[in-house]
Formats: sequence, C-alpha cells, structure tokens
Amino acid sequence: MDRQLTLMVVHAHPDDECLSTGGILARYTEEGIRTVLVTCTNGEQGDDQGGVKPGEAGHDDAAVAERRLAELRESVSHLGIDHLELLGYRDSGMDGWDGNGHPDAFANVPVETASARLAALMEHYRPQVVVTYDETGGGGYGHPDHVQAHRITVAAVESSGIPDKFYYTAMPRSAMKQMFEMMRDSGVDLGGFEPSDDFGTPDERVTSVVDVSPYVGRKLKALQAHESQGENIFLLRMPEQTQQLAFSHEAFERKLCKVEAPDHEEDLFAGLRDA
Ligand SMILES: [Zn+2]
Repeated sequence: MDRQLTLMVVHAHPDDECLSTGGILARYTEEGIRTVLVTCTNGEQGDDQGGVKPGEAGHDDAAVAERRLAELRESVSHLGIDHLELLGYRDSGMDGWDGNGHPDAFANVPVETASARLAALMEHYRPQVVVTYDETGGGGYGHPDHVQAHRITVAAVESSGIPDKFYYTAMPRSAMKQMFEMMRDSGVDLGGFEPSDDFGTPDERVTSVVDVSPYVGRKLKALQAHESQGENIFLLRMPEQTQQLAFSHEAFERKLCKVEAPDHEEDLFAGLRDA
C-alpha cells in the first residue's frame, strides 16, 4: 500500500491559517494529501463584538474564544482541511498587552510541555511535511504566540525526527513591496502603516513558492469566516486585483530536507511523491 502523504501546518491563532497557508492546505487536500491544521491558542485576546478590545469594558474572553473557534471550523471547511487539532492554550495577546502576564498564556507555557503535545500529534499523523513561522513569528511579526508556535514546532520536529521536510512561512520582501505600492496607488487606507525596508523575508531566504491561484476564492471565503476579527484583517479591504496578487502564491523557507529536491521548488512535496 502507498504510504499516506501528510501535511501538518502549525499556527498560533484562529485566522492565521488563511493567508500564508490557506492555499497549500486547499490545494494539497484536493490532491489527496492528508492535511492537518494545529491551532495553538483559542484567540481569547481578539476583538469582542463591536470591536471591543481585550482589557476594555465588556470584553468577554470566553465568549470571544467560543466565537473564534466556531469561525475557525468554518474556515477549515472552506479550505477542505481534513483534521483540525486544537492545543487549547490561552492567547497571550500582542507584545506589551496585559494578557502577556497571564500564567496560562501560551507564550508562558514551557516549550518542552507544549512541544511534547505537538510531537505526540506528529507521532499520530506522521507528516512528511511540517510548516510553521520563522523565529520572528513570520517575517518580523513578533507576536509572542507566533514566536512560541515557532519554538515548540522546531522542538517537536527535532525530538520526533518525523518530518522529511520542514518549512517556515515567508513573505518575500520584493512581493510585499509590490503589494504595498499597489495598495497605495489604489488609495487603500493602511491606517498609517508604513512597511520598513526590512519588512518581510529577504528574497534570498525563499526556497519554495507554490502557485495556489485556483484557490484564491476559497482563501478569501476562509478569511471572511473570521468575521469577528474583520476590523484587523486589512487584506479584506483591498481591491480585487491586489487580493489576487497577494493571495495567488504562497512562499516558504525550507529548513530541513531529508529527500532529493531542487534548491528552488514549486511543490512542498517535491521528492516525496514517487518514493
Ligand atoms: Zn496570530
């Protein structure tokens, strides 16, 4: 019997799955590859109804988590993902927020504790390909939960020895520059956000670019499913042409490769399909 090809993607919050990996999740599922999304936190520090921020009067952590996990399930169904695994940790909030100090916050959980749980999921699913963020939490993002997701995934990949290929999501600097220029030209309100010259992943670190253009519509639907966080998802307010450009390719930095694969590849499963 042919072995089951499996992709495991590790993200910090409900909604993170869409932009950088929604296309590969949809595409590989459609190709018959088993797909597993691991979401580490419940997103408690997201917006409550009416855009109420954590720490403001009327922000109900439990209600936010419940709503966001329901939105996550809807997003998962748009992308066709086979298995959703929730680690259930508490959202730490953005760097500097009060939530950072909560003892149960994901970022405060010892790496070995959380990575042991992730390694057990790797034992269960035996993914040949694993994807998460780089050491900055993804192109310099720096969110404590994204950095923690990176740390526990690196530790689980090392301790389990299971994946043949291991990747970080990447936002190539040149593509980011082009995208922001396009948005500026079409008068999109970036809320004063001005990307610095070192925003995104240096192009030379990008090893793998996957064409997911047939799945742009499904990525968009998945993103829209996270309705309660809509205010924070500026990509939803971009002109269609910019969305097409921003969503049609997903880029990655390959960190581990135990099989024969080209230095620059268009398929995360290159070298694994005929084995
Ligand atoms: Zn996130």
